[in-house]
Amino acid sequence: MDIELVQGDITEQHVDVIVNAANSSLLGGGGVDGAIHRRGGPEILAECRRLRDTRYGKGLPSGEAVATTAGRLPARWVVHTVGPVHSATEDRSAVLASCYTRSLRVADELGATTVAFPAISTGVYRWPMEDAARIAVEAVQAASTGVRTCRFVLFDAPAYAAFERALSAARG
Ligand code: ADP
Repeated sequence: MDIELVQGDITEQHVDVIVNAANSSLLGGGGVDGAIHRRGGPEILAECRRLRDTRYGKGLPSGEAVATTAGRLPARWVVHTVGPVHSATEDRSAVLASCYTRSLRVADELGATTVAFPAISTGVYRWPMEDAARIAVEAVQAASTGVRTCRFVLFDAPAYAAFERALSAARG
């Protein structure tokens, strides 16, 4: 698998799957979630509402992932995943890693080969960027998947630099 790093806006990526750092309500929020719904249009929210009415009556649990249309975005699908809120007292790293592996599994089910990820949990969920980058890179590298290209889309230069360090550490 090729791992690419890009500094920019995830909603502008021309890939099969864009991963959304959603919240468990699936009904929209700030950050990546807000940008995806704003640019993708109402079709995405309509599908999310249907998921709440059917499979996910109590919301999408953290660490899990589910696909919808990408609406007007240049991608084919949005895969929504819910990152864990960072905790100083409880190690939730496995849940964060699961966001990446479960999203790749959903991408596999869709037949997607290119996937763009944001830095899940590093916004309102306050996960320290350096640690989140290491967990993200290790999770996608270890995943057994048909996805050929995994692109991390980092919003700013410090996030990009953290992912660069994580990638070079993982490559040894
Ligand atoms: P979470 O709730 O999982 O913490 P957020 O959406 O609040 O998710 O933030 C996750 C990361 O995505 C943060 O580092 C934030 O700066 C970044 N981000 C926000 N908007 C975008 C965007 N349009 N494209 C890419 N990354 C974004």
